[in-house]
Amino acid sequence: MTRKTILTLLLACLILPVAQAAQPIKTLLITGQDGSHYWRGASQGIEKILENSGLFEVDILVTPDFGEDINRFEPDFKGYSLVIINYGGATWKPSVRRAFEKYVSDGGGVVVLHSSIIPMEDWPAYNEMTALGAWNGRDERWGPYVYWTEGGRYIYDYTPGYAGYHGLQHETVVDTRAPGHPIMQGLPPRWKHFKDEIYTKLRGPGRNMEILATIEEQGRHEPVMWTVGYGKGRVFVDVLGHCGNDPELTYSILCTGYQVTLLRGAEWAATGTVTQPAPKDFPLEDTFTLRPEFKAPFHAY
Ligand code: ZN
Repeated sequence: MTRKTILTLLLACLILPVAQAAQPIKTLLITGQDGSHYWRGASQGIEKILENSGLFEVDILVTPDFGEDINRFEPDFKGYSLVIINYGGATWKPSVRRAFEKYVSDGGGVVVLHSSIIPMEDWPAYNEMTALGAWNGRDERWGPYVYWTEGGRYIYDYTPGYAGYHGLQHETVVDTRAPGHPIMQGLPPRWKHFKDEIYTKLRGPGRNMEILATIEEQGRHEPVMWTVGYGKGRVFVDVLGHCGNDPELTYSILCTGYQVTLLRGAEWAATGTVTQPAPKDFPLEDTFTLRPEFKAPFHAY
């Protein structure tokens, strides 16, 4: 074997795994209005998390800004297997709503992030897709408070009252509540999440939802990640990942637990399965870990 042949073989070994991998999942990330978050930094971080995994190819679509005409927003969902919503602004116009409802009910995948459960309270199908929402005037008319209780039961609390509350940001422990779900399979039952803003008192229709993970706040196990079925479509909602109004304030999405569950939730929403093994750098109950480069370290798998 000549040196050239050996070199060619070596190169083939290096290139083949990439060439043989499935096509990246075509992803549309919608962002552009959010009064209380640094949506640009969060969206860029999310794009890096997804693309660095090699599993996703992301197009970012920025809506008109606050005060501009939202009716100019005309996304084309065709050709995408996944739509990620990182958006806290004005409700989309009726034709866009109808196109999105069709995209999801025909089997499209959706990921809804953090403050994206706040907007579009006047759009019933969006409330169904997210299952739970917060703020923007939501109250008992939108549905019950939903939380988890010991024994795996869901509590549907119809007490009248506002939806949405959060206290100061803090480090916290996340409890896995659906260990058999593809998104959670193989991950620790409890893991530490880096400093974040924890939403509580969420309420909404709460239909076709499965709670994947909770955080204990004020004595209640509040859902922080869940799935929703809408027609043939799959929705993954993750309300962790607060990014403040300052470009420096994106620390919550540096958490390895956040990044790994986002990648798994995104793959599941798009395909119905998760091919990613549980990584070695996943946080434990008493130790958080970070991925500051928005990618897995060399020996993570
Ligand atoms: Zn927030």
